[in-house]
Amino acid sequence: MNSVKQRGFFRRDKVFDFLTPPISDRLDPTHGTLLYMEDVSVAFDGFKAINDLNFYVDKGELRCLIGANGAGKTTMMDIITGKTRPDKGEVIFGKNIDLLDLNESEIAIAGIGRKFQKPTVFENLSVFMNLELAMADFKSVWWTLRCKLNSTQVDQIEHTANVIGLVEKLQDPAGSLSHGQKQWLEIGMLLMQRPLLLLIDEPVAGMTHQEMEKTGELLLSLAGKHTIVVVEHDMEFVRSIAGRVTVLNQGTVLAEGSMEDIQNNEDVRRVYLGE
Ligand code: ATP
Repeated sequence: MNSVKQRGFFRRDKVFDFLTPPISDRLDPTHGTLLYMEDVSVAFDGFKAINDLNFYVDKGELRCLIGANGAGKTTMMDIITGKTRPDKGEVIFGKNIDLLDLNESEIAIAGIGRKFQKPTVFENLSVFMNLELAMADFKSVWWTLRCKLNSTQVDQIEHTANVIGLVEKLQDPAGSLSHGQKQWLEIGMLLMQRPLLLLIDEPVAGMTHQEMEKTGELLLSLAGKHTIVVVEHDMEFVRSIAGRVTVLNQGTVLAEGSMEDIQNNEDVRRVYLGE
């Protein structure tokens, strides 16, 4: 029995391959850094929103990105996901996927998922249906309504519901969920697409303290298997989940390190904390 266990037969991620994010042929999984942004700049009407930015994220990391309003966080996410094209610089995913060669949907297919601040779940559909619609193989509502799910797909939905703590709510309409539960559902919808890199914008805005704690636990449980970049203003939340924190200021990295390093950094105290 032990030897069977040791060989990994009882590991869910070995039994169900849907638990392992798909790896594109061009993505070298042995490479430590999953995302590179080098010398990236973009200007809007002459104003440099991103200014010679260098940003690197390691595979499996949970990185928090902080910065005052207008620091360039959203623009940076827009560049990674192909919504905004930089004027210069390189944005590489994995070893050699040049994100600047891809459009938004190709970037999503390459394995980058983004969750915006406001939850955008289908309120009239059940939690189950929301997850079903988000599944990578499912291309349209019409297709979803006509086709019967196979047992692996049902397993995938139930597993994801379990991960996001909504397994008891699978048949409930998404509209009946609390704000926090809707945010978790949307994270679940992202997970159905099996992204390697998740970009999550202000996940705890408007949440109760308890929901915030649960969100922290959820993100920590996803790190490792996924790589996560969280943009967040709530410092208590950042402190509770952060390994490494990047501080953005005027479109460039002002400081990077542990929360303690950041709190003790003089530039950060001066610029960001207003001391
Ligand atoms: P917040 O925390 O308020 O969301 P942010 O750090 O996400 O701020 P961005 O939204 O990236 O900052 O904005 C960076 C700067 O670029 C701001 O001064 C903003 O006004 C400007 N900016 C962003 N997008 C555009 C655009 N499409 N056209 C003109 N200016 C823009």
